Amino acid sequence: MKVTSKMEAQLQTVYPNMVQWRRYMHQHPELSFHEKETSRWITERLEEMGCEVKTGIGGGYGLIATIRGEKPGPVIALRTDFDALPIQDEKTTEYASKVPGVMHACGHDAHTSTMLAIAGFYTENKAHFAGERRLLFQPAEEVCPGGALGMIAGGALDGVDAIYGVHLWSPLPYGTAATRPGPFMAAPDEIYIDVQGKGGHGGLPHETVDAVVVGSAIVQAIQSIVSRNVNPLDPAVVSIGSIHAGSTANVIAERCKMTGTVRSFTEEVRSFIKDRLNAIVTQTAALYGATATLEYRDGYPPVVNDAKEAARFFKVAPEEFGTEGAQQSTLIMAGEDFSYYLRQVPGCFMFVGAGNEACGAVYPHHHPRFDLDERAMLKAAKLMIAMAEDYAEEAAEASSEEASHS
Ligand code: MN
Repeated sequence: MKVTSKMEAQLQTVYPNMVQWRRYMHQHPELSFHEKETSRWITERLEEMGCEVKTGIGGGYGLIATIRGEKPGPVIALRTDFDALPIQDEKTTEYASKVPGVMHACGHDAHTSTMLAIAGFYTENKAHFAGERRLLFQPAEEVCPGGALGMIAGGALDGVDAIYGVHLWSPLPYGTAATRPGPFMAAPDEIYIDVQGKGGHGGLPHETVDAVVVGSAIVQAIQSIVSRNVNPLDPAVVSIGSIHAGSTANVIAERCKMTGTVRSFTEEVRSFIKDRLNAIVTQTAALYGATATLEYRDGYPPVVNDAKEAARFFKVAPEEFGTEGAQQSTLIMAGEDFSYYLRQVPGCFMFVGAGNEACGAVYPHHHPRFDLDERAMLKAAKLMIAMAEDYAEEAAEASSEEASHS
């Protein structure tokens, strides 16, 4: 389907509703896997539009809205998330969170509002588009393992040809958009190290195995993984974020506990770091006569965009954002569970710029004063529709070519 200027104008008229929806959700946030009311509220909005909605996806609060065009064509999935974070909203706007300690501080409210507008758009244009548009409303993006796995288990990707998703992004200015082919966002893993020594009197170290000394040696040795072992051309992080040992000045600590994070972009680098950590932790402890365990908790896999689908972004995005505005993103050290979808079907995850000093959208994601330029929602809706329709057009051309050859 070619998106006509009349269709665009139609989408534009929904913008006041998008703002209203987003602000309603912003005032009524719910934490990951507890989005009961949010899920019910979204279902109501979709049913008002005459959308077919399946609830309780994967046994949770996930929703799948299906809209079928009158012509045959590809099945294209578009995804939003709708959970909030355990953060106290410090904004003074009238639409600040009404729930103490819970806030939409990552923009998932705006993602959902965007997807509701897309649902309305396709419902009104059933006569024009080819195939199926499957809108995935996913709970629990903010925790690990997140809601994407439940959506997939609930059939979200069955028969899907391609998938697209957008994160509104306040570090990027309004009017821009960005992505990159291949690895885009990191795998965010967590590590838990527990050193077991032998406690005792601070004045009699020869009768002890000092867990503080062993822990310190491990922290130092770990620094060599990224600086000396990982290929310098592969971005990676190993950080120790907390260290706890001992209780007072004249007692030698028996245990030392540490936690940290590992970030990487490929499975090779990830499992390489995991192996190095295991070796360093256990063998450094052994060197000092102590023992130590490493618990390595896998976070989401890295977000890896399909090369062809990322190329589609650079083909269609300039129309909405201009050639300057449609940007190649740097690698992002944050993670996203959109990665699970991209492991199964080709697709592209994209950022749409939502930062703007004029409306106070200057704080990073997960900040207590996080806000965004709401106009970015309309941009995001147009971008996702443009991606889907370009895919469908290409599929239609390929099948008519096939028909003319046979
Ligand atoms: Mn997010």
